Amino acid sequence: TFKAIRIDKADKGTTAALTQFDEAELMDGDVTVRVEWSTLNYKDGLALTGKAPVVRRFPMIAGIDFAGTVEASSHPQWKAGDKVVCTGWGMGETHLGAYAEKARVKGDWLVALPQGLSARDAMAIGTAGFTAMLSVLALEKHGVSPKSGPVVVTGAAGGVGSVATAVLSWLGYHVIASTGRASEADYLKSLGAAEVIDRNELSAPPKPLAKERWAGGVDSVGSTTLANLLSMTRYGGAIAACGLAAGMDLPSSVAPFILRGVCLLGIDSVMCPIDPRKAAWQRLASDLDRSKLSEITTEIPLAEVPEWGAKILAGQVRGRIVVKIV
Ligand code: NAP
Repeated sequence: TFKAIRIDKADKGTTAALTQFDEAELMDGDVTVRVEWSTLNYKDGLALTGKAPVVRRFPMIAGIDFAGTVEASSHPQWKAGDKVVCTGWGMGETHLGAYAEKARVKGDWLVALPQGLSARDAMAIGTAGFTAMLSVLALEKHGVSPKSGPVVVTGAAGGVGSVATAVLSWLGYHVIASTGRASEADYLKSLGAAEVIDRNELSAPPKPLAKERWAGGVDSVGSTTLANLLSMTRYGGAIAACGLAAGMDLPSSVAPFILRGVCLLGIDSVMCPIDPRKAAWQRLASDLDRSKLSEITTEIPLAEVPEWGAKILAGQVRGRIVVKIV
């Protein structure tokens, strides 16, 4: 047996607890990994508290990301001793997840730990940081460069937002960080934000078009915030939409698209194919200042995962949480 955070169905909702899990109950997969580090994302909060139906199988081991060392493999690409990273692919949702000393997954899901990143660094980044990088890559592909004008990051003090702020500023963008926590203004400036704005500026009912404020953006909030971002985007600019911290809805109009040629770029980290995955991890290894990453990161033990799950949903987590498994 091994230690794991197990989610079970209860009379009302679900329960999450640190227990022993039987190795014989692990699901199919051609690679078994000794998990060393995991992390806490917004989605993990949803799974741990049962606030949204993230978990599709019971019992489940929660946790959508891990980094560790291959213990056994029948996959041609991997052998015992390899250092690997795995994020998404339904782990913690349909496939037994990462808050455990062991995981068994498909070798096709794994990325080699990039040169220059430790397993702990990779999980300090985690799905949230990986998603931030996918968003930055989408903006670059669209042609949004530091010369195009400022870029906005919403939910800036959260996980996606903190990494997006640090990476974009490192790349030379003028970053406007939007947060509901005025107390985090100094933190955001230390990550490289040039300006910090109150998220209330972006939560009023949006006009179809408003004054042009930025050439691009990374939005982890959704809803009216995303609608306002679009209406304030400069001619030809783009917003990468990756989150829904304020809601799934999008009360917008086609005006920014048809009158300003603005683009809405959809970002998914879960089923992201392997080649762009590797590319994003390489860019995280080169374009995320390690001292900024330390500033973003708080470490917790596995046993504290359930209580931190509730905190992340309450918007009380700053930056990223890394989970020490062993
Ligand atoms: P997080 O650390 O909790 O960050 C979310 C941030 O959003 C909060 O810190 C807060 O920032 C802001 N926020 C929260 N509630 C809000 C509200 N009601 N109105 C406006 N702003 C609000 O979570 P995360 O792990 O970074 O994830 C962020 C979002 O991205 C989540 O919705 C998550 O599901 C999504 N996500 C999507 C993908 C994908 O594949 N597309 C991958 C990872 C995450 P401030 O305190 O600074 O305002």
